[in-house]
Amino acid sequence: MKEVILIKLGEVVLKGLNRRSFEDVLLRNIRRRITPLGGFDVREIQSTVYVTPHDGADIADAEEKIAKVFGIAAYSRACETQKEIHAICESAANYLHKELLGAKTFKVECKRSDKKFPLNSPQICTEVGAYLLERFPNLKVDVNEPEYTVRVEVRDFAAYVHGNSLRGAGGIPVGTGGKAAILISGGIDSPVAAWMMARRGVELTAVHFASPPYTSERAEQKVADLLRSVGEYAGRMTMFTVPFAKVQEEIMAKCPEELFTVIMRRFMMRAAEQIAERERCGALITGESLGQVASQTLQAIACTDEAAHMPVFRPLIGMDKVDIIALAHRIGTYDLSILPYEDCCTVFTPRHPRTRPALKFVLQAEEALDADALLEDCLSHVKITQIHPNR
Ligand code: ATP
Ligand code: MG
Repeated sequence: MKEVILIKLGEVVLKGLNRRSFEDVLLRNIRRRITPLGGFDVREIQSTVYVTPHDGADIADAEEKIAKVFGIAAYSRACETQKEIHAICESAANYLHKELLGAKTFKVECKRSDKKFPLNSPQICTEVGAYLLERFPNLKVDVNEPEYTVRVEVRDFAAYVHGNSLRGAGGIPVGTGGKAAILISGGIDSPVAAWMMARRGVELTAVHFASPPYTSERAEQKVADLLRSVGEYAGRMTMFTVPFAKVQEEIMAKCPEELFTVIMRRFMMRAAEQIAERERCGALITGESLGQVASQTLQAIACTDEAAHMPVFRPLIGMDKVDIIALAHRIGTYDLSILPYEDCCTVFTPRHPRTRPALKFVLQAEEALDADALLEDCLSHVKITQIHPNR
């Protein structure tokens, strides 16, 4: 028996004239993720991508990776068979044996793109249905609400039999939506924000602010681990770790305590933007959600944004924490995020941060600092790490 994975494209199919280039990027991303697993043939024919393992390559491993490639609406493992009705019937019975034994009702659906095949779709459904009823006395046909649906596709070069498809990761292929820099902490939110933008096709570069000696090597490690986890969807990326303690100490020493957070965040934006420019990114991304904490009020965000020139994407802005947490679970970052390592923000938290800072006073307070020198200093000590997705 020859088993393949059939992949249905997502929004890519809406892309009109750009469609070809979207598909090329999707195929490249699929190949990139599954090539390390062994030999696979990946090709697209008539809006379906076929992944065929060579001898010895494990299709289950490939399926796991494909579940995390953006641009895929649905996928399923399928049995490839001869374009001959008896072969199709037998393949359905053998390949879906376990599922059919476990169901009480079923139906057969058929797609026939090879119009030269001697039977039409309703005839194929009838033939396969009748054969399965004979082989599985436990089954009855229910065309409205079947427990199990057997799907037959008759294509130009072969026929395929499979069961229910699984939902793909959705979105559009990473690399088709430009590049942006995610400001990543070790928290719950920013990895989710990174994932959401990657799902819209954005290639990521990561900027992390660390505050040694106040924060540990282990805290930085945690952020790299989070990025590797996001990378299972978003692909490879570069992580820039910016030593931030000096900037924070200066702000602490020279600015009013209640403005510490907003000024620090403005410095984060400035530093991240310089890295983003060098890395040819077109935007910054943060994990902020409106009203979640003092630095995420409308007024505080307005002050933060004023320090940046690039667009700042905040995909979580209108989400509740419970929804963000649910998404973190789904994408597999939650358990890492809650590991208790200190973050550069928590080390210097003021007692009473101003929740509605006015830009005028923030700018006045910043005059006490030599912003350019502080930025130059921290940016000249950036550490660069290449992040490869978890295997
Ligand atoms: P998160 O869960 O992402 O840490 P948060 O709810 O803790 O978010 P803040 O700590 O106020 O919120 O941070 C808001 C956003 O600022 C983060 O989502 C992230 O994008 C960015 N940020 C915060 N700390 C850092 C850091 N140490 N390095 C890089 N970016 C950071
Ligand atoms: Mg945080």
